[in-house]
Amino acid sequence: MSSPASPHSETRLDSALYVVSTPIGNLRDITLRALDVLANVSLIYAEDTRVTAKLLQAHGLRTRLSPYHDHNAANVRPEIISRIAGGEALALVSDAGTPLISDPGYKLVAALAEANLKVIPIPGASAVLAGLVVAGLPTDRFLFGGFLPPRASARRRAAEEFAGVQTTLLFYETGPRLAESLADLAAVLGPRHAVVARELTKLFEEARRGTLAELAQHYQLAGPPKGEIVLVIGPPEAQAQGPNGSELDAALLKALNVLSVRAASIQVAAALGMPRREVYARALHLRPQAPDTDAV
Ligand code: SAM
Repeated sequence: MSSPASPHSETRLDSALYVVSTPIGNLRDITLRALDVLANVSLIYAEDTRVTAKLLQAHGLRTRLSPYHDHNAANVRPEIISRIAGGEALALVSDAGTPLISDPGYKLVAALAEANLKVIPIPGASAVLAGLVVAGLPTDRFLFGGFLPPRASARRRAAEEFAGVQTTLLFYETGPRLAESLADLAAVLGPRHAVVARELTKLFEEARRGTLAELAQHYQLAGPPKGEIVLVIGPPEAQAQGPNGSELDAALLKALNVLSVRAASIQVAAALGMPRREVYARALHLRPQAPDTDAV
């Protein structure tokens, strides 16, 4: 493990693209290592150089900035690849959070991997994980669906694709579309717990909880909320409340045919959204009826 360095320390960086996470609101949500890297790369490629200039200024950094966004990416990629091949250390940042997560950068990283050049992640804030951890919904398995389509018909089709997924779902959403999206999701996904996590790490941070239908009604009446939003939706309600005994037993007996008690309990608990300990106790009880494959 490398030793801790003070922010902005002078470090000679390996030639690579450093994918640097930046704050999603609170300017202090940036790691010491991110500051070191941003201070020492020869150039920072930024989604919007004006946004990143403010961040650099807040932390007393003067590194040069150059734009990398959806409209110039194809033209700029060859330049970035040849600079790194020539020995430079460069950084990629987005306006906020982790680059590549609903932000530009994926094709650049793929091109660098193809060219056998180094990519180094500098992890930090991302709205999707901040939303997940305040939601109070199951975190053992989750699916991030990016932004839902803006048009209602496409959005409903997308929601149908997610309807069978037995995990917590997360989406980025905008204030003006929130009420309509919640209503569509309620219609397609049914009665599920959900959380609208808004303005995370900022002054008016809020986590509003309810069923999808309750939240849809709230925002229909209250009007579009200001600010940035992560929508977190719990797994299907039947599972969240606990399946009946015969559903649990059927799932466990099937899993115990091929898995150990431990592995079967983990798999079934995740699929049914139940506490592992409870499922494990039931699996131990059922084991004599299933082939003994447990090494424990
Ligand atoms: N790459 C970023 C990340 O890692 O968080 C996300 C970029 S995406 C273009 C921007 C969306 O992220 C916003 O529209 C909003 O849905 C969500 N978001 C960003 N900051 C947020 C915050 N402070 N609170 C809630 N949601 C946020």
